[in-house]
Amino acid sequence: MKIRKGDTVEVISGDDRGARGTVHRVFPAQKRVVVSGVNLVKKHQRRTGDVRTQVGIIEREAPIAISNVALVCPRCNATTRVGYRIMPDGSKVRYCRKCDETIQ
Ligand SMILES: [Zn+2]
Repeated sequence: MKIRKGDTVEVISGDDRGARGTVHRVFPAQKRVVVSGVNLVKKHQRRTGDVRTQVGIIEREAPIAISNVALVCPRCNATTRVGYRIMPDGSKVRYCRKCDETIQ
C-alpha cells in the first residue's frame, strides 16, 4: 500500500479534485481510503438507543478509491509518486520521487 494512515493526500479526480486531507482509514482489500473532509455524504442517522449517537442528518466521509488520490510529499508540498528503497537494515521505506525525501 503506497498510501498509509496519517498521510496527507490530494484528490486528483472526481468531484473533490484538488482537495487535500489526512488519511483516516485505509481499506486495502477494497483499495479505498477515507480522507478527512473529502467525499462528504449526508447520512440520515436514526436513534439507536445509544445516547452518544448524533441523530439527524450528519455529514460523514465516505471512502474513495486510492487511484483517485495522490500522496503529498511533506517536503516539496506537491503531489508525488512514491518509490521504495531498501535500507541497510533490510527495512523498506517510501520516498518521494521528486525530491528524494524519505516518507515515514
Ligand atoms: Zn518531495
